[in-house]
Amino acid sequence: MNVLIAGNSEINALARDFLASRGVDAIVVPDISELKSFEGECGKFTASIGDGKFSVSFAVLTENADCPPGELGGFHADGLFDCSVDVMASRSGRHADLFLLDYFRESPAYAAVRALESARFLSARKRAVYFLSRFVRTADYESEELYAAARNSGVIFVKYDALETGLSGGPLEITADDGVMKHRIISENVYSDGSREVSGAFRRAAEVFRLRTDAGGYINEDRHFLSPIHTSRRGVYHIGRAAARELESALLYAVRDARFDIAGYGRAETSRVTIDRNKCVLCRTCMRTCPHAAMFPDADSRTMKNLVFACEGCGICVSLCPCNAITLSSDNSSAAPNSRAASEKILMLCCENSAYHAVKEAMIMLGKLAANIDARPIPCGGSVSFEEIGDMLDEYGGVMAAVCYEGACRHFDGSGRACLQVGRIAEMLRQADIPGSIVGAARVSHAAPKELADAAADFWECAVAAKSRAEQIL
Ligand code: SF4
Ligand code: SF4
Repeated sequence: MNVLIAGNSEINALARDFLASRGVDAIVVPDISELKSFEGECGKFTASIGDGKFSVSFAVLTENADCPPGELGGFHADGLFDCSVDVMASRSGRHADLFLLDYFRESPAYAAVRALESARFLSARKRAVYFLSRFVRTADYESEELYAAARNSGVIFVKYDALETGLSGGPLEITADDGVMKHRIISENVYSDGSREVSGAFRRAAEVFRLRTDAGGYINEDRHFLSPIHTSRRGVYHIGRAAARELESALLYAVRDARFDIAGYGRAETSRVTIDRNKCVLCRTCMRTCPHAAMFPDADSRTMKNLVFACEGCGICVSLCPCNAITLSSDNSSAAPNSRAASEKILMLCCENSAYHAVKEAMIMLGKLAANIDARPIPCGGSVSFEEIGDMLDEYGGVMAAVCYEGACRHFDGSGRACLQVGRIAEMLRQADIPGSIVGAARVSHAAPKELADAAADFWECAVAAKSRAEQIL
């Protein structure tokens, strides 16, 4: 097993040495522009670096999503990460020091943490410090303590709705309107990482690894309920500033997760996607839109090729192919119920990105009740059809879809579609005088086995009682 470490970061050497101690060899590419392409799937990627091609099992991206601060009304602000706290402390304290997080939505965790640490440092040295942010970040990554420490050392927090900037003969004059009052601040020392789009190297990294990004160019920065190192592509992990704080556990997680994927645990052996070469015109729509980089042009057959282990079977390519060249087969091989009366058992459809990572631990927590629960991996909750759930209800006392949290879904809200689907089925059952509680949905993450176990236990109780009522009715 070997790894590509790509990105300009001080953790590269530490990561390489730690992985070597675990038997994983690393190729380190600090300059992202050296990486020409990164193709394939977990376990057998090909990285084109300079003029050479290298086979790697998985990749760790260490480039950070820096935002250049840009100009503020003609005043040049320092980037949060350009400036050390010593340099900040050596500057004039005549006016207030100003930390400005002007993100168009919740700021990335690492930027908030960096700003809080620096603001507290300056405030503890008797400087007047303002902390302006358009959105207040949900506390995480120990930031709750940091907020409290900064507030207690005298940092003034303002959450604003609108900002006006101007120059008052040198320093920056800024007026922050919080909807109730206007705060006028004059500062010579402005630290801001709030430009709304990430800079070139990170954009290039997301492009070459073909990672899904948001409109600002970030990957996963606002998804603090996911493991922060996951990206939309299996086998590619991002160790940004937040995850770098716990480097060893982040790397161990990546190695374990990659091994899980390479072993093909719970995955299809053959492709779920078929491409009709007579229809495919190689427009590459599927390649551009697949969230998992699972489509690739095959020069030999002059058509697209589906990478089996990368493909999640979400069906997005099927719906977007302009030539109707793609078909998706269902891979829900039946997990036969055991000799126990089927109506006493429930089936949990576990999204491979969330619940299926948590289900083993959840089953241990469920103890004897686990004998009443079958779990089946599914590529995405949104791919389960009404008919499939109907067939499952012939075998089981209830069917529960355990899918990703809202916003964490990698399939354009497949988890939301799954919940809607379950709601519709429940309603139709009710209209037929059958208790709707024999179908249900739970939102969990890969790291929430206790939530999954609780949801399964509650659902089992409701569904089995409802099913026996339904059987009496029928
Ligand atoms: S979207 Fe359809 S036609 Fe275009 S490359 Fe993919 S399979 Fe071929
Ligand atoms: S089914 Fe989804 S994951 Fe598979 S190739 Fe199509 S878009 Fe990509």
